Order: sequence, then C-alpha cells, then structure tokens
Amino acid sequence: MPNNGRQLALPMWNEGEGPAADNDNISYTGNDSAKCGNNESGPIQGALWPELAQSTVVQQEAQIEEQMMEHRPETKREGRGEVPNCGQDLEALKEACHVCDKCSLKATCTHVVFGEGNPKAKIMFVGEGPGRDEDKQGRPFVGAAGQLLDKILASVGLSRDEVYITNVVKCRPPKNRMPNPDEILACSPYLDAQIKRISPSIIVCLGALATKTLIDKDAKVTRIRGEWHEKDGILYMPTFHPAALLRDPSKKRPVWEDMKKVKEAFQNLQA
Ligand code: URA
Repeated sequence: MPNNGRQLALPMWNEGEGPAADNDNISYTGNDSAKCGNNESGPIQGALWPELAQSTVVQQEAQIEEQMMEHRPETKREGRGEVPNCGQDLEALKEACHVCDKCSLKATCTHVVFGEGNPKAKIMFVGEGPGRDEDKQGRPFVGAAGQLLDKILASVGLSRDEVYITNVVKCRPPKNRMPNPDEILACSPYLDAQIKRISPSIIVCLGALATKTLIDKDAKVTRIRGEWHEKDGILYMPTFHPAALLRDPSKKRPVWEDMKKVKEAFQNLQA
C-alpha cells in the first residue's frame, strides 16, 4: 500500500458508537429530513445525499488510473517549482494564477477557478479540475458534484465558509477530459502555494487525481481511501470524488465513514 507518510491510528467510531452529541450536531439540511446517524437505519440507507442528475462533469476514475502519472514520475510533488514573483498573500497568488499561461488550458477556459473559502481554513478540500459550471462561474464545485459536496460538508456540520475548496488544475480541460500530466505539473505550484499560505491541518483529497497529486503518485484512491496520511505536519484523507458518488451510490457509505474521521480529527484539533 503506498504511503509516503506515517499512517495514523486515529480512533474510529464503530457502527452505532458515535457520540450522541455528534449525531445531533450534524443534522442534515438537504432535501430530506434525515439526520446523520451511525446505524443502518441512518440516512446512508437512502436519504443522505440524495441522487442528483448525472453530471457531465463526471470524470471516470478508471480513466484516471489509466491516463495519469503512473509513467510520468516527473509529476511527483518534489521539485514542482515555485510560483515566481509572488508574495505570501493568497490574493497575490490568485492574481498570479489568473494571468498564468503555463499550459494550454488557459486558452480554452472561460474563467480560471482558483478556489474559495476561508483563507485560514483548518480543512481544505481538493478536487480534480473545474467542469462546465465551475468554468462559467469561476467558482469551484458549483455543479452537480458541488451540490453533493455541500451536502457532504453539511452532514458533518461544516459549511463552505469555514473550509477552503480548490482543485488540482485551475482551468477547465476541454470537454471535461482528464488534465494531462503536463497540465498537472504546470498547475501544481499554485496548489502547493495555496496549501503553504492557507496552512490547513487537514486536506481531504477528493478522488484519484488529488490523491495521486498530493499523497503519492502511485496511490489508488480505491485502495487507500479512509486512511490518514501525514506529510509535513498535514493530515491527508483520501476519499472518493463526489462525482463518483453520483455514478455509484454504494460509495456513499465509505465517504460517510471517511468524513466522520475528518470531523473527529477536526474536533480533536479544536479540543
Ligand atoms: N469536479 C471537480 O473536481 N472540481 C470541481 O470544481 C467541480 C467538479
């Protein structure tokens, strides 16, 4: 199992063992009235994160596994370079990102989608790249997958305002194709610089691309999801991309389990 960092033995809630207070605190505010519980009668059985229309943004994990950096070791994190002439300010970084033309994606996108949220967030969520809706609005995760991400956040008592949400690549690949290794490599300094400036304690890697880019280029999200990885003082939690849940509802429960761990780690930070 690939693991660049130390694997943490964080305590896990067993089925039915979640603190009652947490069950109450993480009321689900989506289309259904279910609460997030830890038992089989809980929302995962049907109501939680109700199905949304299949998104055109959906990008196939299998395709990712095939196309990504497996044979492109130069896309590994070390030595990806710095963003030139950019201070420590997140806004300055955003401006630099908006005028970046280090790859060809800029020429075909409508808006650069830098990311948004709390610039001092303790938790960051990193997806793959903007889709059609994100490209139109210049905001991350606003389409179908984004609506589901909002529900996932709400289910553990988080809002978009308190976390930071971004993507591996900041410009939409044409027709939502997978970003290619050169594009990932060109854009990675922005992600690295965002992480440096925001300085989160926890990063949730949404899907295969974020997992490979941030944790280990050889990692497979299907194998390592739900396991903590620590690197440079940051805890990384790989989990399935919300778009994968739209395709395959059986992935809801694993994501729910992963998010409970994230919530618990977040609460431990504040204790
Ligand atoms: N999928 C992503 O990976 N990122 C977005 O911003 C939207 C959909």
